[in-house]
Amino acid sequence: MDTSTGAAFLEAIRTSLPNLRLLTDLLDLEGYRRDETAYLEPPPPLAVALPTETAEVAELVRLAAQHRVPVVPRGAGSGLSGGAIAVAGGLTISFMRMNRILEIDRSNLVVITQPGVLNAALKQAVAAEGLFYAPDPASTEICSIGGNLGTNAGGLCCLKYGVTRDAVVGLEIVTASGEVVRLGGRTTKDAAGYGLIPLIIGSQGTLALITEATLRLRPTPPPSVTLLAFFPSLTSAGDAVAAVVAAGVEPSTLELMDRTTIRAVDDDHHLGLDRDAAAMLMIESDLPGAGATRALEIADAACLGAGAASTIVATDPAEADLLRQARREAFHSMERLGVARMEDVGVPRGRVPAMLAEIERIAAEQGLTIATFGHVGDGNLHPNIILDRDDPDGHAKLLRATDALCRAAIGLGGTVTAEHGIGASRREYLELQRGSAAVALMRAVKTAFDPLGILNPGKVLPDA
Ligand SMILES: Cc1cc2nc3c(=O)[nH]c(=O)nc-3n(C[C@H](O)[C@H](O)[C@H](O)COP(=O)(O)OP(=O)(O)OC[C@H]3O[C@@H](n4cnc5c(N)ncnc54)[C@H](O)[C@@H]3O)c2cc1C
Repeated sequence: MDTSTGAAFLEAIRTSLPNLRLLTDLLDLEGYRRDETAYLEPPPPLAVALPTETAEVAELVRLAAQHRVPVVPRGAGSGLSGGAIAVAGGLTISFMRMNRILEIDRSNLVVITQPGVLNAALKQAVAAEGLFYAPDPASTEICSIGGNLGTNAGGLCCLKYGVTRDAVVGLEIVTASGEVVRLGGRTTKDAAGYGLIPLIIGSQGTLALITEATLRLRPTPPPSVTLLAFFPSLTSAGDAVAAVVAAGVEPSTLELMDRTTIRAVDDDHHLGLDRDAAAMLMIESDLPGAGATRALEIADAACLGAGAASTIVATDPAEADLLRQARREAFHSMERLGVARMEDVGVPRGRVPAMLAEIERIAAEQGLTIATFGHVGDGNLHPNIILDRDDPDGHAKLLRATDALCRAAIGLGGTVTAEHGIGASRREYLELQRGSAAVALMRAVKTAFDPLGILNPGKVLPDA
Protein backbone atom coordinates (compact mmCIF):
# COMPACT_ATOMS: atom_id res chain seq x y z
CA MET A 1 0.00 0.00 0.00
CA ASP A 2 1.42 3.42 -0.89
CA THR A 3 1.88 6.06 1.81
CA SER A 4 -0.77 8.37 0.32
CA THR A 5 -3.46 5.67 0.73
CA GLY A 6 -2.41 5.24 4.37
CA ALA A 7 -2.45 8.98 4.99
CA ALA A 8 -5.86 9.42 3.32
CA PHE A 9 -7.26 6.53 5.35
CA LEU A 10 -6.00 7.98 8.65
CA GLU A 11 -7.37 11.38 7.70
CA ALA A 12 -10.77 9.80 6.97
CA ILE A 13 -10.74 8.09 10.41
CA ARG A 14 -9.86 11.35 12.19
CA THR A 15 -12.64 13.19 10.36
CA SER A 16 -15.30 10.53 10.89
CA LEU A 17 -14.35 9.47 14.46
CA PRO A 18 -12.76 12.53 16.11
CA ASN A 19 -13.07 11.06 19.63
CA LEU A 20 -11.50 7.69 18.79
CA ARG A 21 -8.15 6.82 20.38
CA LEU A 22 -5.84 6.33 17.38
CA LEU A 23 -2.14 5.56 17.79
CA THR A 24 0.30 6.39 14.99
CA ASP A 25 3.51 7.10 16.88
CA LEU A 26 6.12 4.39 16.14
CA LEU A 27 6.90 3.97 19.83
CA ASP A 28 3.21 3.32 20.61
CA LEU A 29 2.84 0.97 17.64
CA GLU A 30 5.72 -1.21 18.85
CA GLY A 31 3.52 -2.72 21.59
CA TYR A 32 1.05 -3.96 18.96
CA ARG A 33 3.52 -5.54 16.54
CA ARG A 34 3.80 -9.04 18.03
CA ASP A 35 1.91 -11.52 20.14
CA GLU A 36 3.60 -14.25 22.26
CA THR A 37 5.27 -15.82 19.20
CA ALA A 38 8.70 -14.35 19.94
CA TYR A 39 10.17 -16.09 16.86
CA LEU A 40 8.06 -14.09 14.33
CA GLU A 41 9.27 -10.67 13.12
CA PRO A 42 6.23 -8.70 11.90
CA PRO A 43 6.42 -5.08 10.73
CA PRO A 44 4.75 -2.33 12.79
CA PRO A 45 1.12 -1.60 11.83
CA LEU A 46 0.14 1.60 10.05
CA ALA A 47 -1.93 2.58 13.08
CA VAL A 48 -3.77 1.15 16.08
CA ALA A 49 -7.37 2.06 16.89
CA LEU A 50 -8.81 1.52 20.37
CA PRO A 51 -12.61 1.76 19.98
CA THR A 52 -15.04 1.58 22.91
CA GLU A 53 -18.27 0.92 20.97
CA THR A 54 -19.48 -1.34 18.17
CA ALA A 55 -20.45 1.68 16.04
CA GLU A 56 -16.82 2.83 16.01
CA VAL A 57 -15.63 -0.64 14.93
CA ALA A 58 -18.20 -0.68 12.13
CA GLU A 59 -17.10 2.73 10.89
CA LEU A 60 -13.42 1.75 11.03
CA VAL A 61 -14.04 -1.37 8.94
CA ARG A 62 -16.27 0.55 6.49
CA LEU A 63 -13.44 3.06 5.94
CA ALA A 64 -10.85 0.26 5.69
CA ALA A 65 -12.94 -1.42 2.97
CA GLN A 66 -13.30 1.89 1.15
CA HIS A 67 -9.51 2.49 1.23
CA ARG A 68 -8.63 -1.22 0.81
CA VAL A 69 -6.62 -1.21 4.04
CA PRO A 70 -6.05 -4.52 5.92
CA VAL A 71 -7.58 -4.82 9.40
CA VAL A 72 -6.12 -6.92 12.22
CA PRO A 73 -8.41 -7.52 15.21
CA ARG A 74 -6.44 -7.81 18.44
CA GLY A 75 -7.28 -8.87 21.97
CA ALA A 76 -4.66 -9.03 24.71
CA GLY A 77 -1.90 -10.27 22.38
CA SER A 78 -1.22 -13.51 24.27
CA GLY A 79 -1.74 -15.66 21.17
CA LEU A 80 0.76 -18.38 20.30
CA SER A 81 0.27 -18.56 16.53
CA GLY A 82 0.77 -14.97 15.39
CA GLY A 83 -2.95 -14.39 14.76
CA ALA A 84 -2.86 -10.84 16.12
CA ILE A 85 0.55 -9.79 14.77
CA ALA A 86 0.58 -6.62 12.69
CA VAL A 87 0.23 -6.57 8.92
CA ALA A 88 2.27 -4.09 6.83
CA GLY A 89 0.19 -0.99 6.11
CA GLY A 90 -2.69 -2.39 8.17
CA LEU A 91 -4.90 -1.01 10.91
CA THR A 92 -4.80 -3.03 14.12
CA ILE A 93 -8.07 -2.73 16.03
CA SER A 94 -7.41 -3.42 19.70
CA PHE A 95 -10.54 -4.44 21.60
CA MET A 96 -9.02 -3.84 25.02
CA ARG A 97 -11.10 -0.71 25.71
CA MET A 98 -14.32 -2.58 24.86
CA ASN A 99 -14.06 -4.16 28.29
CA ARG A 100 -17.52 -3.96 29.82
CA ILE A 101 -19.58 -6.90 31.04
CA LEU A 102 -23.03 -5.82 29.86
CA GLU A 103 -25.34 -8.23 31.70
CA ILE A 104 -25.32 -11.36 33.83
CA ASP A 105 -28.65 -13.03 33.09
CA ARG A 106 -29.28 -15.56 35.85
CA SER A 107 -32.59 -16.84 34.56
CA ASN A 108 -31.10 -17.81 31.20
CA LEU A 109 -27.66 -18.67 32.63
CA VAL A 110 -25.79 -16.43 30.18
CA VAL A 111 -23.42 -13.47 30.38
CA ILE A 112 -23.34 -10.77 27.70
CA THR A 113 -19.94 -9.17 27.33
CA GLN A 114 -17.78 -6.96 25.18
CA PRO A 115 -14.71 -8.75 23.78
CA GLY A 116 -12.00 -6.85 25.68
CA VAL A 117 -12.85 -8.34 29.08
CA LEU A 118 -10.08 -10.62 30.35
CA ASN A 119 -11.06 -14.28 30.78
CA ALA A 120 -10.13 -14.19 34.50
CA ALA A 121 -12.14 -10.99 35.05
CA LEU A 122 -15.24 -12.56 33.48
CA LYS A 123 -14.83 -15.69 35.58
CA GLN A 124 -14.48 -13.58 38.70
CA ALA A 125 -17.51 -11.40 37.91
CA VAL A 126 -19.82 -14.36 37.36
CA ALA A 127 -18.35 -16.24 40.36
CA ALA A 128 -19.45 -13.31 42.54
CA GLU A 129 -23.00 -14.26 41.44
CA GLY A 130 -22.44 -17.95 42.27
CA LEU A 131 -21.99 -18.83 38.58
CA PHE A 132 -19.23 -20.45 36.54
CA TYR A 133 -17.80 -19.62 33.12
CA ALA A 134 -16.01 -22.83 32.15
CA PRO A 135 -13.43 -22.02 29.39
CA ASP A 136 -10.14 -21.88 31.24
CA PRO A 137 -7.01 -21.27 29.14
CA ALA A 138 -3.80 -21.38 31.16
CA SER A 139 -3.41 -17.73 30.12
CA THR A 140 -6.70 -16.78 31.86
CA GLU A 141 -5.22 -13.66 33.48
CA ILE A 142 -3.62 -12.31 30.29
CA CYS A 143 -6.07 -13.21 27.51
CA SER A 144 -9.34 -11.60 26.45
CA ILE A 145 -12.71 -13.11 25.67
CA GLY A 146 -12.41 -11.73 22.09
CA GLY A 147 -9.09 -13.55 21.66
CA ASN A 148 -10.60 -16.73 23.16
CA LEU A 149 -13.42 -16.51 20.62
CA GLY A 150 -10.95 -15.71 17.85
CA THR A 151 -8.89 -18.83 18.58
CA ASN A 152 -11.59 -21.12 19.99
CA ALA A 153 -9.37 -21.32 23.06
CA GLY A 154 -9.10 -24.53 25.02
CA GLY A 155 -7.43 -24.89 28.38
CA LEU A 156 -7.36 -26.92 31.54
CA CYS A 157 -10.93 -28.17 31.80
CA CYS A 158 -12.03 -28.90 28.21
CA LEU A 159 -12.09 -32.59 28.99
CA LYS A 160 -15.23 -32.06 31.04
CA TYR A 161 -16.59 -28.69 29.93
CA GLY A 162 -15.56 -28.37 26.27
CA VAL A 163 -13.77 -25.57 24.40
CA THR A 164 -14.77 -21.90 23.97
CA ARG A 165 -17.06 -22.69 21.02
CA ASP A 166 -19.19 -24.89 23.30
CA ALA A 167 -19.87 -21.90 25.55
CA VAL A 168 -21.13 -19.46 22.89
CA VAL A 169 -24.84 -18.95 22.21
CA GLY A 170 -24.82 -15.52 20.57
CA LEU A 171 -22.50 -13.06 18.82
CA GLU A 172 -22.61 -9.56 17.51
CA ILE A 173 -20.17 -9.17 14.63
CA VAL A 174 -18.93 -6.48 12.27
CA THR A 175 -18.58 -7.85 8.75
CA ALA A 176 -15.87 -6.99 6.24
CA SER A 177 -18.08 -4.27 4.75
CA GLY A 178 -18.71 -2.67 8.15
CA GLU A 179 -22.22 -4.03 8.70
CA VAL A 180 -23.30 -5.00 12.25
CA VAL A 181 -24.94 -8.46 12.34
CA ARG A 182 -26.41 -10.38 15.29
CA LEU A 183 -26.14 -14.17 15.35
CA GLY A 184 -27.92 -16.37 17.88
CA GLY A 185 -29.21 -14.98 21.15
CA ARG A 186 -30.02 -16.38 24.58
CA THR A 187 -31.58 -19.65 23.40
CA THR A 188 -29.52 -22.73 24.16
CA LYS A 189 -30.82 -24.63 21.10
CA ASP A 190 -31.12 -23.05 17.65
CA ALA A 191 -31.37 -24.96 14.37
CA ALA A 192 -32.19 -22.12 12.01
CA GLY A 193 -30.02 -22.17 8.90
CA TYR A 194 -26.27 -22.70 8.67
CA GLY A 195 -24.29 -22.47 11.90
CA LEU A 196 -22.37 -19.24 11.40
CA ILE A 197 -21.34 -18.91 15.06
CA PRO A 198 -19.18 -22.08 15.05
CA LEU A 199 -17.62 -20.93 11.78
CA ILE A 200 -16.61 -17.54 13.15
CA ILE A 201 -15.32 -18.90 16.46
CA GLY A 202 -11.72 -19.94 15.81
CA SER A 203 -11.45 -18.07 12.49
CA GLN A 204 -8.79 -15.79 14.02
CA GLY A 205 -10.31 -12.54 12.82
CA THR A 206 -10.27 -13.57 9.15
CA LEU A 207 -14.07 -13.71 8.67
CA ALA A 208 -15.52 -11.01 10.96
CA LEU A 209 -14.79 -8.88 14.02
CA ILE A 210 -16.59 -9.92 17.20
CA THR A 211 -17.95 -6.96 19.13
CA GLU A 212 -20.18 -8.71 21.69
CA ALA A 213 -20.74 -12.28 22.88
CA THR A 214 -23.47 -14.10 24.79
CA LEU A 215 -21.82 -16.90 26.74
CA ARG A 216 -23.23 -19.89 28.57
CA LEU A 217 -22.84 -20.09 32.37
CA ARG A 218 -23.22 -22.97 34.82
CA PRO A 219 -23.75 -23.28 38.53
CA THR A 220 -20.38 -23.15 40.36
CA PRO A 221 -18.96 -26.67 40.73
CA PRO A 222 -17.56 -27.80 44.11
CA PRO A 223 -13.83 -27.17 44.81
CA SER A 224 -11.57 -29.65 43.05
CA VAL A 225 -9.67 -32.51 44.62
CA THR A 226 -6.25 -33.01 42.97
CA LEU A 227 -4.13 -36.12 42.40
CA LEU A 228 -0.48 -35.96 41.36
CA ALA A 229 1.11 -39.08 39.88
CA PHE A 230 4.83 -39.36 39.12
CA PHE A 231 6.14 -41.75 36.45
CA PRO A 232 9.53 -43.27 35.60
CA SER A 233 8.96 -42.80 31.85
CA LEU A 234 6.93 -40.56 29.55
CA THR A 235 5.29 -43.52 27.88
CA SER A 236 4.05 -44.96 31.19
CA ALA A 237 2.40 -41.57 31.87
CA GLY A 238 0.84 -41.78 28.40
CA ASP A 239 -0.43 -45.28 29.17
CA ALA A 240 -1.93 -43.97 32.42
CA VAL A 241 -3.93 -41.34 30.50
CA ALA A 242 -5.51 -44.06 28.38
CA ALA A 243 -6.16 -46.14 31.52
CA VAL A 244 -7.82 -43.24 33.38
CA VAL A 245 -10.08 -42.49 30.42
CA ALA A 246 -10.89 -46.18 29.93
CA ALA A 247 -11.78 -46.50 33.64
CA GLY A 248 -14.70 -44.15 33.01
CA VAL A 249 -13.43 -41.37 35.27
CA GLU A 250 -14.39 -37.95 33.94
CA PRO A 251 -11.75 -35.66 35.43
CA SER A 252 -12.18 -31.90 35.10
CA THR A 253 -8.42 -31.62 34.46
CA LEU A 254 -5.86 -34.11 33.18
CA GLU A 255 -2.52 -32.39 32.60
CA LEU A 256 0.96 -33.71 31.89
CA MET A 257 4.41 -32.29 32.62
CA ASP A 258 7.66 -33.94 31.55
CA ARG A 259 10.90 -33.89 33.56
CA THR A 260 12.25 -30.63 32.12
CA THR A 261 8.94 -28.94 32.86
CA ILE A 262 8.70 -30.41 36.38
CA ARG A 263 12.15 -29.07 37.22
CA ALA A 264 11.61 -25.63 35.65
CA VAL A 265 8.25 -25.22 37.41
CA ASP A 266 9.67 -26.46 40.71
CA ASP A 267 12.61 -24.04 40.40
CA ASP A 268 10.10 -21.20 40.02
CA HIS A 269 7.48 -22.26 42.57
CA HIS A 270 9.31 -24.56 45.09
CA LEU A 271 6.45 -27.06 45.26
CA GLY A 272 8.51 -30.07 46.34
CA LEU A 273 7.69 -32.02 43.15
CA ASP A 274 9.56 -35.26 42.42
CA ARG A 275 12.37 -33.78 40.31
CA ASP A 276 13.65 -37.21 39.26
CA ALA A 277 10.37 -38.34 37.76
CA ALA A 278 10.26 -38.51 33.95
CA ALA A 279 6.66 -37.27 33.94
CA MET A 280 3.86 -36.11 36.19
CA LEU A 281 0.11 -36.19 35.70
CA MET A 282 -2.13 -33.70 37.48
CA ILE A 283 -5.68 -35.03 37.68
CA GLU A 284 -8.55 -33.04 39.16
CA SER A 285 -12.15 -33.91 39.89
CA ASP A 286 -14.87 -31.43 40.82
CA LEU A 287 -17.63 -33.98 41.28
CA PRO A 288 -19.93 -33.22 44.22
CA GLY A 289 -19.82 -35.00 47.61
CA ALA A 290 -17.72 -38.14 47.83
CA GLY A 291 -17.77 -38.42 44.02
CA ALA A 292 -14.48 -36.56 43.57
CA THR A 293 -12.59 -38.69 46.09
CA ARG A 294 -14.01 -41.86 44.54
CA ALA A 295 -13.08 -40.70 41.00
CA LEU A 296 -9.52 -39.97 42.09
CA GLU A 297 -9.25 -43.37 43.82
CA ILE A 298 -10.06 -44.98 40.47
CA ALA A 299 -7.60 -42.65 38.68
CA ASP A 300 -4.96 -43.46 41.32
CA ALA A 301 -5.36 -47.19 40.74
CA ALA A 302 -5.15 -46.63 36.95
CA CYS A 303 -1.90 -44.63 37.33
CA LEU A 304 -0.31 -47.22 39.62
CA GLY A 305 -1.40 -49.96 37.21
CA ALA A 306 0.35 -48.10 34.36
CA GLY A 307 3.59 -47.90 36.36
CA ALA A 308 3.40 -44.72 38.48
CA ALA A 309 6.25 -44.66 41.00
CA SER A 310 4.28 -42.54 43.48
CA THR A 311 0.99 -40.69 43.81
CA ILE A 312 -0.22 -38.02 46.20
CA VAL A 313 -3.62 -36.37 46.76
CA ALA A 314 -3.84 -32.63 47.52
CA THR A 315 -6.98 -32.20 49.58
CA ASP A 316 -6.19 -28.66 50.74
CA PRO A 317 -7.79 -26.32 48.13
CA ALA A 318 -4.98 -23.75 48.64
CA GLU A 319 -2.37 -26.39 47.77
CA ALA A 320 -4.40 -27.46 44.72
CA ASP A 321 -4.64 -23.80 43.60
CA LEU A 322 -0.85 -23.45 43.88
CA LEU A 323 -0.34 -26.50 41.69
CA ARG A 324 -2.80 -25.25 39.08
CA GLN A 325 -1.18 -21.82 39.08
CA ALA A 326 2.27 -23.37 38.61
CA ARG A 327 0.95 -25.39 35.66
CA ARG A 328 -0.57 -22.22 34.18
CA GLU A 329 2.81 -20.52 34.33
CA ALA A 330 4.76 -23.46 32.88
CA PHE A 331 5.40 -21.61 29.59
CA HIS A 332 7.04 -18.72 31.42
CA SER A 333 9.17 -21.22 33.38
CA MET A 334 10.25 -22.59 29.97
CA GLU A 335 11.17 -19.14 28.71
CA ARG A 336 13.74 -18.87 31.47
CA LEU A 337 15.56 -21.85 29.92
CA GLY A 338 16.05 -20.18 26.50
CA VAL A 339 13.96 -19.03 23.55
CA ALA A 340 10.85 -21.26 23.73
CA ARG A 341 8.57 -22.06 20.82
CA MET A 342 5.42 -23.74 22.06
CA GLU A 343 3.85 -26.22 19.66
CA ASP A 344 0.28 -27.38 20.04
CA VAL A 345 -0.20 -30.82 18.55
CA GLY A 346 -3.29 -32.90 19.22
CA VAL A 347 -3.71 -36.64 18.69
CA PRO A 348 -6.46 -39.13 19.47
CA ARG A 349 -6.08 -39.94 23.18
CA GLY A 350 -5.08 -43.53 22.46
CA ARG A 351 -2.11 -42.23 20.41
CA VAL A 352 -0.69 -40.07 23.22
CA PRO A 353 2.05 -42.60 24.14
CA ALA A 354 3.07 -42.78 20.45
CA MET A 355 3.18 -38.95 20.16
CA LEU A 356 5.28 -38.71 23.32
CA ALA A 357 7.71 -41.25 21.85
CA GLU A 358 7.85 -39.19 18.62
CA ILE A 359 8.67 -36.03 20.61
CA GLU A 360 11.55 -37.81 22.35
CA ARG A 361 12.82 -39.13 19.02
CA ILE A 362 12.68 -35.69 17.35
CA ALA A 363 14.47 -34.01 20.28
CA ALA A 364 17.26 -36.60 20.12
CA GLU A 365 17.55 -36.38 16.31
CA GLN A 366 17.76 -32.58 16.30
CA GLY A 367 19.98 -32.35 19.38
CA LEU A 368 17.44 -30.06 21.05
CA THR A 369 15.68 -29.81 24.38
CA ILE A 370 11.95 -30.25 23.89
CA ALA A 371 10.02 -29.82 27.13
CA THR A 372 6.49 -31.14 26.97
CA PHE A 373 3.43 -30.29 29.00
CA GLY A 374 -0.19 -30.01 28.06
CA HIS A 375 -3.82 -30.94 28.25
CA VAL A 376 -3.07 -34.60 27.79
CA GLY A 377 -6.61 -35.69 28.68
CA ASP A 378 -7.66 -34.07 25.38
CA GLY A 379 -4.70 -35.61 23.54
CA ASN A 380 -3.32 -32.03 23.33
CA LEU A 381 0.42 -31.75 23.96
CA HIS A 382 2.57 -28.63 24.00
CA PRO A 383 6.12 -29.63 23.04
CA ASN A 384 8.24 -26.53 23.82
CA ILE A 385 11.30 -26.35 21.63
CA ILE A 386 13.95 -24.63 23.75
CA LEU A 387 16.68 -22.85 21.86
CA ASP A 388 20.02 -21.90 23.25
CA ARG A 389 20.16 -18.14 22.58
CA ASP A 390 23.77 -18.45 21.35
CA ASP A 391 23.27 -21.42 19.00
CA PRO A 392 24.03 -20.17 15.43
CA ASP A 393 22.06 -23.11 13.95
CA GLY A 394 19.20 -22.53 16.39
CA HIS A 395 16.67 -21.24 13.88
CA ALA A 396 17.29 -24.02 11.36
CA LYS A 397 16.99 -26.66 14.12
CA LEU A 398 13.77 -25.07 15.30
CA LEU A 399 12.23 -25.23 11.83
CA ARG A 400 13.27 -28.86 11.39
CA ALA A 401 11.86 -29.83 14.80
CA THR A 402 8.58 -27.98 14.20
CA ASP A 403 8.20 -29.64 10.84
CA ALA A 404 8.87 -33.09 12.29
CA LEU A 405 6.41 -32.53 15.17
CA CYS A 406 3.62 -31.38 12.84
CA ARG A 407 4.16 -34.29 10.46
CA ALA A 408 4.26 -36.76 13.35
CA ALA A 409 0.92 -35.47 14.70
CA ILE A 410 -0.71 -35.68 11.27
CA GLY A 411 0.74 -39.16 10.81
CA LEU A 412 -0.93 -40.26 14.05
CA GLY A 413 -4.32 -39.03 12.85
CA GLY A 414 -4.03 -35.78 14.78
CA THR A 415 -3.79 -32.04 14.26
CA VAL A 416 -0.96 -29.50 14.05
CA THR A 417 -2.92 -27.21 16.34
CA ALA A 418 -5.48 -28.25 18.93
CA GLU A 419 -6.17 -24.82 20.43
CA HIS A 420 -3.71 -22.06 19.44
CA GLY A 421 -4.73 -21.85 15.79
CA ILE A 422 -2.97 -21.83 12.44
CA GLY A 423 -2.47 -18.05 12.62
CA ALA A 424 0.64 -16.86 10.79
CA SER A 425 2.94 -19.59 12.07
CA ARG A 426 1.46 -22.87 10.78
CA ARG A 427 -0.09 -21.97 7.43
CA GLU A 428 2.09 -24.37 5.47
CA TYR A 429 0.60 -27.32 7.37
CA LEU A 430 -3.08 -26.57 6.79
CA GLU A 431 -3.33 -28.29 3.43
CA LEU A 432 -1.12 -31.16 4.55
CA GLN A 433 -3.55 -31.86 7.39
CA ARG A 434 -6.90 -30.98 5.83
CA GLY A 435 -6.31 -31.76 2.16
CA SER A 436 -6.77 -29.50 -0.87
CA ALA A 437 -10.55 -29.98 -1.21
CA ALA A 438 -11.16 -28.83 2.37
CA VAL A 439 -8.83 -25.83 1.93
CA ALA A 440 -10.69 -24.89 -1.29
CA LEU A 441 -13.95 -24.85 0.72
CA MET A 442 -12.29 -22.66 3.35
CA ARG A 443 -11.18 -20.23 0.63
CA ALA A 444 -14.77 -20.06 -0.67
CA VAL A 445 -16.02 -19.28 2.85
CA LYS A 446 -13.36 -16.59 3.23
CA THR A 447 -14.38 -14.98 -0.09
CA ALA A 448 -18.06 -15.04 0.90
CA PHE A 449 -17.33 -13.25 4.19
CA ASP A 450 -14.50 -11.00 3.01
CA PRO A 451 -14.54 -10.50 -0.78
CA LEU A 452 -11.84 -7.78 -0.68
CA GLY A 453 -9.55 -9.87 1.54
CA ILE A 454 -9.03 -7.07 4.07
CA LEU A 455 -9.66 -9.07 7.28
CA ASN A 456 -6.41 -10.29 8.82
CA PRO A 457 -4.68 -11.22 5.54
CA GLY A 458 -1.77 -13.64 5.76
CA LYS A 459 -3.37 -15.55 8.62
CA VAL A 460 -4.88 -19.06 8.62
CA LEU A 461 -5.11 -19.74 4.85
CA PRO A 462 -1.89 -20.44 2.93
CA ASP A 463 -1.10 -18.10 0.00
CA ALA A 464 -3.08 -19.17 -3.06
C1 LIG B 1 1.39 -18.61 29.12
C2 LIG B 1 0.34 -18.87 28.08
C3 LIG B 1 -0.55 -19.91 28.28
C4 LIG B 1 -1.55 -20.17 27.33
N1 LIG B 1 -2.43 -21.18 27.55
C5 LIG B 1 -3.41 -21.44 26.66
C6 LIG B 1 -4.35 -22.49 26.89
O1 LIG B 1 -4.31 -23.20 27.89
N2 LIG B 1 -5.30 -22.69 25.95
C7 LIG B 1 -5.38 -21.94 24.80
O2 LIG B 1 -6.26 -22.16 23.97
N3 LIG B 1 -4.50 -20.93 24.58
C8 LIG B 1 -3.54 -20.66 25.47
N4 LIG B 1 -2.64 -19.65 25.23
C9 LIG B 1 -2.73 -18.87 24.00
C10 LIG B 1 -3.59 -17.58 24.09
O3 LIG B 1 -3.64 -17.09 25.41
C11 LIG B 1 -4.99 -17.85 23.56
O4 LIG B 1 -4.91 -18.14 22.18
C12 LIG B 1 -5.98 -16.71 23.77
O5 LIG B 1 -7.26 -17.12 23.34
C13 LIG B 1 -5.60 -15.43 23.03
O6 LIG B 1 -6.35 -14.35 23.57
P1 LIG B 1 -5.86 -12.84 23.37
O7 LIG B 1 -6.88 -11.95 23.95
O8 LIG B 1 -4.49 -12.67 23.89
O9 LIG B 1 -5.93 -12.75 21.79
P2 LIG B 1 -4.89 -12.23 20.70
O10 LIG B 1 -3.60 -12.97 20.79
O11 LIG B 1 -4.83 -10.77 20.76
O12 LIG B 1 -5.66 -12.68 19.38
C14 LIG B 1 -5.86 -14.04 19.10
C15 LIG B 1 -6.61 -14.18 17.77
O13 LIG B 1 -7.96 -13.77 17.94
C16 LIG B 1 -8.28 -12.73 17.02
N5 LIG B 1 -9.16 -11.79 17.71
C17 LIG B 1 -8.93 -11.13 18.87
N6 LIG B 1 -9.99 -10.40 19.21
C18 LIG B 1 -10.93 -10.59 18.25
C19 LIG B 1 -12.24 -10.09 18.03
N7 LIG B 1 -12.83 -9.27 18.88
N8 LIG B 1 -12.90 -10.48 16.91
C20 LIG B 1 -12.34 -11.35 16.02
N9 LIG B 1 -11.11 -11.85 16.19
C21 LIG B 1 -10.42 -11.48 17.29
C22 LIG B 1 -6.94 -12.12 16.62
O14 LIG B 1 -6.99 -11.54 15.32
C23 LIG B 1 -6.05 -13.34 16.65
O15 LIG B 1 -6.13 -14.03 15.44
C24 LIG B 1 -1.63 -19.37 26.16
C25 LIG B 1 -0.73 -18.32 25.97
C26 LIG B 1 0.24 -18.08 26.91
C27 LIG B 1 1.19 -16.93 26.69
